[in-house]
Amino acid sequence: MAMRTQGTSKYIVGPVEQFDQRFDMYKRVRWDPALKELGKKLWNPSLPKGKEGYTLVERAFENAGWYVEMAFAKGIQIHDYGLYSWDSPEMAHYHALPEGTRLDGADPAALSQVVKNVALSLGACTTGICELDPRWVYSHSFHFVTKEHRRMELPPQVRYAVVVAIEMDYEMVRTSPSAVAGSTVGIAYSQMAFVAGSLAQFIRDLGYTALPSGNDTGLNIPMAIDAGMGELGRNGLLITKEFGPRVRLAKVLTDLPLEPDPPLELGVTAMCERCGKCARYCPSQAISPGERTPEPLNISTNPGVLKWPIDAEKCLNFWAVNGTTCTNCIRVCPFNKPDGRLHRLVRWGVKNTPWANDLFIKGDDLLGYHKQLRPNAYWEG
Ligand code: SF4
Ligand code: SF4
Repeated sequence: MAMRTQGTSKYIVGPVEQFDQRFDMYKRVRWDPALKELGKKLWNPSLPKGKEGYTLVERAFENAGWYVEMAFAKGIQIHDYGLYSWDSPEMAHYHALPEGTRLDGADPAALSQVVKNVALSLGACTTGICELDPRWVYSHSFHFVTKEHRRMELPPQVRYAVVVAIEMDYEMVRTSPSAVAGSTVGIAYSQMAFVAGSLAQFIRDLGYTALPSGNDTGLNIPMAIDAGMGELGRNGLLITKEFGPRVRLAKVLTDLPLEPDPPLELGVTAMCERCGKCARYCPSQAISPGERTPEPLNISTNPGVLKWPIDAEKCLNFWAVNGTTCTNCIRVCPFNKPDGRLHRLVRWGVKNTPWANDLFIKGDDLLGYHKQLRPNAYWEG
């Protein structure tokens, strides 16, 4: 059966091959000789020296945030492990349903709503469903620890992706770049594993295949766009309707019969063409201030997709210097706002009256939404 037109089709202007996870920037530091020094810097960040935003307390907070992901999930490093395991034999010892139990004959639209409600109850801030486009599945996996590089094989019956987004804390992101902002990144990664792993268990108990996944197995952003959760921003991130780019993404791949969501139009491309704030405030100039292009910048970019390519080498270099992650390109984005009547009105305007985008950007500048919040101010409440 032919795939329906999905949200990513408007960005595809050339042949798109499956991406080899080995070329992911984070994986390249494990094998690319050109990035050897960067790898050393990343794994040996200088000890805290008491600088605001990077104190021992703040670094400990950050490690606490990452704990579940690093100890029990490792979705950044490998796949089919821990909370992201593709099977859960240990559940056979608890609450096991009779062998062969399976929910049959459910209406896909109603079942999709149930699955989304479960995802939201587990902690997702928003969720969507798409038909799985094989181009977004990695051609090969790369094991971060053993460096094993092998063909990614999915069970052939897997047909859908349920994508879940986890909100990062608005005030913590405002402190970027700092370990406080890094803490909300870590917390979201840990929550991703809980939400995706538990959602997969729910689907398995309905009698279907469910493969939970963090950054492993395939590309989250195009799957989320196909799942009607938002559009692609200049900053290379998914821009959602309610949270802008202030989310982290995970997914569950499944054969449960579901109803895909339609593409979501928010007016992001027109806004990004006028705005450029993420490029201006990126500390490593990793974001293009120019026009969109399908040409790759380096081996970490997938060709054939019309976008503002991110120079992941520059970005990760800044992370190494900074000693933690960075979320400046989220912090300064005009789509990153807490909920409120005014902000909902502006979002409506961006979608429906793009001729007024310069005005919205001016207002955003004047109100200083892009400015960094001092990490100490975060602690002082
Ligand atoms: S994470 Fe920071 S360094 Fe990387 S692209 Fe965004 S703003 Fe630039
Ligand atoms: S900061 Fe501006 S240019 Fe960058 S993603 Fe957000 S809206 Fe687009």
